[in-house]
This record gives sequence, C-alpha cells and structure tokens, in this order.
Amino acid sequence: MTYMSGSLYIISAPSGAGKTSLVSQLTKTDGSIAVSVSCTTRAMRPGEANGVNYHFLSVEEFEKKIEEGDFLEYAKVFDNYYGTSRSSVKAQLNAGKDVILEIDWQGAQQVRRLMPQATSIFILPPSMNELHRRLKARGTDSDEVIERRMQDAINEMSHYKEFDYLVINNHFETTLKDLHSIFKAKRLRRQSQLQAHKVLIKDLLGMEIEV
Ligand code: GDP
Ligand code: ADP
Ligand code: 5GP
Repeated sequence: MTYMSGSLYIISAPSGAGKTSLVSQLTKTDGSIAVSVSCTTRAMRPGEANGVNYHFLSVEEFEKKIEEGDFLEYAKVFDNYYGTSRSSVKAQLNAGKDVILEIDWQGAQQVRRLMPQATSIFILPPSMNELHRRLKARGTDSDEVIERRMQDAINEMSHYKEFDYLVINNHFETTLKDLHSIFKAKRLRRQSQLQAHKVLIKDLLGMEIEV
C-alpha cells in the first residue's frame, strides 16, 4: 500500500454536548481514525484511567512539559491545564491515521495557527436544557461543577464561527453518521485519492502521473 500520512481534525464542543461519546464510537467504527490522548491536571473521574482518557499530571509536571516545549497546544479550561503532546500526534499522523484533537476553542486557535490544513468541527447540543440534562445524567460532576460548565458553555459556543463544520448532536446515531461523512469526504478528495491509488490511476491512463 502506498504510504500516506493522515489528516488532523479538531473537535470542540461545550462540556456535555457529547464529543467524547461520539469520538469514542467513531474510532471504534473506523480503524483509520485515532484520538489524541491529552494531558490534564484535573482530577480523575470515576471510571477514567490514566493514559486512556487522559494522561493525568500534577501542576508541576504539566508546567515542566510547557517549559520543555512538549505541547503542540495547551490551555487553561475550568481552572485546570489541558494540553496536546506534540510527539504523540506526529507519530499517529505518520502512521497514516486521521487524528482527532478533542480540545477547547483556545487550543483550536493555537493548532489552526500552526497547522492551517487541519479540519475543525464544532458540536452543538440541541438545547440548553438537554445540555444540562446530559451533564446531570453523566453522573461524573458535582452540581457546582455542572453550573460552572453551563455558564462556560455560552462562551465556548460563541466561537462556533471559527470552525469549518457545525454538527448538532440531537439523535446520537444520526450525528455519528454526519461526523463520519466529514472524514470520508476528506479521504475522497483528489489529492488523497491520487496518493492512495497512484498505481491504479497510472494503469488506467497508461502514463506516469504527478502526485
Ligand atoms: P468534558 O468536556 O465534559 O468531557 O470535560 P473534560 O474535563 O474532559 O474537558 C474539559 C474541556 O477541556 C473541554 O472543553 C475539552 O475540549 C478541553 N480539553 C481537553 N483536552 C484538551 C487539550 O489537550 N487541549 C485543550 N486546549 N483543551 C482540551
Ligand atoms: P463531552 O465529552 O462533550 O463532555 P460526553 O460524551 O461525556 O460529552 O456526553 C455527555 C453525556 O451525554 C453522556 O452521558 C452521553 O452518554 C450523553 N449523550 C451524548 N450524546 C447524546 C445524544 N445524542 N443523546 C442523548 N445523550 C447523549
Ligand atoms: P460514555 O457516556 O461513557 O461516554 O459512553 C459509553 C458508550 O456509549 C460509548 O461507546 C458511547 O459511544 C456510547 N453512547 C453514549 N451515548 C449514547 C447514545 O445516546 N446513544 C448510543 N447509541 N450510544 C451512546
């Protein structure tokens, strides 16, 4: 198979809109899509595991990584640090995977500046009431944390104009299909197809082609 590097995707949404559930299902459905595991200083939630949901670090460890330039981007969200490790994203892209960064709008701005070819997707909830219901139903956060996240949701959502795609997460399975179609369409673009099917196109045309 022709060697091909994957594409970078940014997915943002207010907390509780469903990005983690959607991304986790997407990577299970399509083996060529991977998610980047971020580093964070927030406390581990029940059911989370170190290295799976996040790399959980102390503030000191996180700040050391900032100084050493380990992060592609980092930001403070809800008073905690969150950041994307530069080396792990590079390794996954070089392995031919499409890599998803599940990051906030501040991180999205930093990544866009560094990698303007990244595709960005914003996920919206169907209503504020439903957002509140999902945060409650998830059962991972205290009422106080939920109120803080509801307040921050409006600020997060006000950045929707900076994203290439807008997806409303009403019916889960429909949203999953919408999201998947964005990845599939990108892979069908001429430049990607030329790389993936160079030999076939060369044979069909009976001449060398430029990729
Ligand atoms: P959740 O969104 O409710 O699952 O809560 P989390 O505590 O997991 O994430 C809180 C916020 O941090 C969300 O807006 C995420 O998009 C953002 N976030 C997570 N990882 C990163 C990261 O590596 N970089 C940046 N900039 N933001 C991140
Ligand atoms: P985020 O990562 O954006 O904070 P989660 O993926 O943790 O959001 O989703 C928040 C909660 O809402 C979870 O309990 C999840 O199962 C639920 N959820 C996600 N999408 C839907 C949907 N379309 N309909 C109903 N519940 C949903
Ligand atoms: P979690 O709530 O722990 O993020 O989700 C657990 C699993 O259930 C994930 O694989 C996620 O994709 C899936 N899931 C979460 N919400 C829904 C939903 O509303 N409908 C369906 N069909 N699956 C869901």
